[in-house]
Amino acid sequence: MPYLDDNLLVFTDLDGSLLDHHSYSWQPAQEWLNRLSAAHVPVILTTSKTAAEVAQLQQQLMLTQHPFIAENGAMISLPTDWPGKKESPTGHIIGASYEEIRHTLITLRQRYDFEFRGFGDVSPQQVVDWTGLELADAKLAMQREASEPLIWFGNELDFARFEKYLHEENLALTRGGRFWHVMGKEAGKGPAVEWLSQQYQQPSGKPVVSIGLGDGPNDIGMLNATDYAVVILGHHTHAMPLEKENGAFRTTQRGPEGWKQGLDHLIRL
Ligand SMILES: [Mg+2]
Repeated sequence: MPYLDDNLLVFTDLDGSLLDHHSYSWQPAQEWLNRLSAAHVPVILTTSKTAAEVAQLQQQLMLTQHPFIAENGAMISLPTDWPGKKESPTGHIIGASYEEIRHTLITLRQRYDFEFRGFGDVSPQQVVDWTGLELADAKLAMQREASEPLIWFGNELDFARFEKYLHEENLALTRGGRFWHVMGKEAGKGPAVEWLSQQYQQPSGKPVVSIGLGDGPNDIGMLNATDYAVVILGHHTHAMPLEKENGAFRTTQRGPEGWKQGLDHLIRL
């Protein structure tokens, strides 16, 4: 079990993990956030949201001195004083940029008549209708850097061809609720966690001890990539199998209560 004064890194999902699924409150986790902050342990938000959507929340959580992982791992946003920040001011992209993804999508649609609509094809009002977000939040969700959500309107045969052609362009499709997400083949929460862990390890040479906390199937890559995993009880019925079950703790509480329960169990003070 890790100690608070180990070289710790905490990676956490937002919705249903650090944030309550319904109220978006993180109050039960605040005591641990204070403790981790006092011990200079980076808490790295790891989410499917865009960097624009995460920015305000990261401020409210007082975590802006740390990086965060957005767009399901395709985009790593880096704090202003991060080494190498000047060369890549928007952050580190794993896979393809949004412009490259859009270019490939438009080319494939023109060539094969595929029937789909992505966020880049539609108005903010259409995204509101699709997602139920407020207009201002829909606009933030549309500020994409390395992945594109889309709705498929075509048949299954065409979908299989679409997937194959994307694969040939080093892009992959993942399912997230009602949308398909197109991003780089090698992108994901797991690879983003590995990339950041390496960055933290390099300067000191001292191995980092990473902890991941998540509640959903799209967190499995992150939970497999960390040394210790907290599987937070979710509002779903997916099994959440991990590659290595040792080092995994499954909470009986949901959301931030489960988040607290996991760290109470895992970290020795
Ligand atoms: Mg979640």
